[in-house]
Amino acid sequence: MMDERKVRVRFAPSPTGPLHIGGVRTALYNYLFAKKHQGDFILRIEDTDQTRFVSGAEEYIIESLKWLGIEPNEGVGFGDGQFAPYKQSERKNSYRQYAEQLVASGNAYYAFDTSEDLEAMRERLKASNVDAKYDSITRSTMKNSLTLSEDEVKQRLENKEQFVIRLKVPRKEEVKLYDEIRGWVNVNTSSIDDKVLFKSDGMPTYHLANVVDDYLMNISHVIRGEEWLPSAPLHVLLYRYLGWESVMPKFAHLPLLLKPEGNGKLSKRDGDRLGFPVFPIEWKDPTTNEILSGYKQNGYLPEAVINLLAFLGWNPGTAQEIFSKEELIQAFSIERVSKHGAKFDVNKAKWFNQQYVRHVDNKILAAELKNNVTEKNISVDEIYVEKVCGLVKEKISFTKELWDYSQYFFVAPTSFDESVIKKRWNEKSAIVLNDIIESFQNSIEFSHSTIENAYNEALIKNEMQSKDFLQLFRVCLSGVASGPPIFEMAELFGKENTILRLETALKNIKQ
Ligand code: GLU
Repeated sequence: MMDERKVRVRFAPSPTGPLHIGGVRTALYNYLFAKKHQGDFILRIEDTDQTRFVSGAEEYIIESLKWLGIEPNEGVGFGDGQFAPYKQSERKNSYRQYAEQLVASGNAYYAFDTSEDLEAMRERLKASNVDAKYDSITRSTMKNSLTLSEDEVKQRLENKEQFVIRLKVPRKEEVKLYDEIRGWVNVNTSSIDDKVLFKSDGMPTYHLANVVDDYLMNISHVIRGEEWLPSAPLHVLLYRYLGWESVMPKFAHLPLLLKPEGNGKLSKRDGDRLGFPVFPIEWKDPTTNEILSGYKQNGYLPEAVINLLAFLGWNPGTAQEIFSKEELIQAFSIERVSKHGAKFDVNKAKWFNQQYVRHVDNKILAAELKNNVTEKNISVDEIYVEKVCGLVKEKISFTKELWDYSQYFFVAPTSFDESVIKKRWNEKSAIVLNDIIESFQNSIEFSHSTIENAYNEALIKNEMQSKDFLQLFRVCLSGVASGPPIFEMAELFGKENTILRLETALKNIKQ
């Protein structure tokens, strides 16, 4: 799909609320594609619909991209390139001329219909069971520059009467467009209405602003969600009528993100319903104060979010699943993006995070765990906390689980997993434990290998198989049935503490 043109792609959200994870994926695919082809990635804020403006949404989008490290080269919040400004409301004055150009070439027209006129048209058509659209048929019955005399139009414009500019969509014409993911898409213009391009408030609509800016900003590829596919034929018409078809960007419409059950688009309510975030970072609705949870606050690492999002709609064609951002850039291609909706899988998302958590430096994890420990008024050595993190990090999916999985490293257990005791404790158990204690007392060195040897000796002496005793031994030391490698754990407890724990267990369990 490559040609000589420099790759320039854009992520063009409207600041109408927090950025949904589907939007983040669109940004990510644009980013990966741009980086792969040494191109530019642009953030453009499409805020021409002032009625849908939500305060804080723009800042939220910028913060989310920064947290994830999907940083644009140019755009709102990321520094001006040669095409600034990147916010459409600040480009307000550049659109009207193109709408006028379309009127002059006969591809658009002024429409003066009031909302009552439009309502009356709808009622009329409803009564005769026809689709109520402002189009090649109905336009002839309305108040526009195609039905009114030239003088009247002039007069109305001079009187500053309210008007919109509508695209004059041909009655029946095939519009063909090539989508890089779906192949050829054919649409008959009979299904498209005469879209408003320029509104009475002096602002362009999405369609006009989007096409004009993609042209002016030299965009080479439009990579966006599938929900915009129905608008694409209209955009093709605009490029054609504005005389820009030869530099029209290539289109790629990404598959939908589906609910975990697989039916329907993933919605913002699904996250709260099913217990996973649908937004990159937490969002507090400015009007209702409702809080929608974020990946960041839920303990996801940005690298893991990128990796898991990359796989929602794309795959590398190999079995490899863990990809750094650099590796994703190398491996990514539009050709391997699926046409079919991608089902969100909560467990897979956790799995990705787990893979990344286990590679986080122990020092970084320790800083988080230390907070939990000191909150409980326990004083500990920093190196000890770091070692604990090294041992338990394989077990957790989120760093916030550190304390839950490691608390017995800081507080000796006072209760012991009952199901294990019930299953494994017998008349020999106390004897074996006493022998292990004695063995430990006699050992000069206390490393995981000497601990293992001492343990094995005590078991052999009592003709006990390790498989019948090891879990009981773990419960005596930690109170719980599973955890990190047991002899390494005992090494970290140290000789005295280990012996003390076993003695305590003996006392408590026997009672
Ligand atoms: N402003 C549109 C949105 O909110 C952009 C669609 C496009 O990328 O063309 O998603």
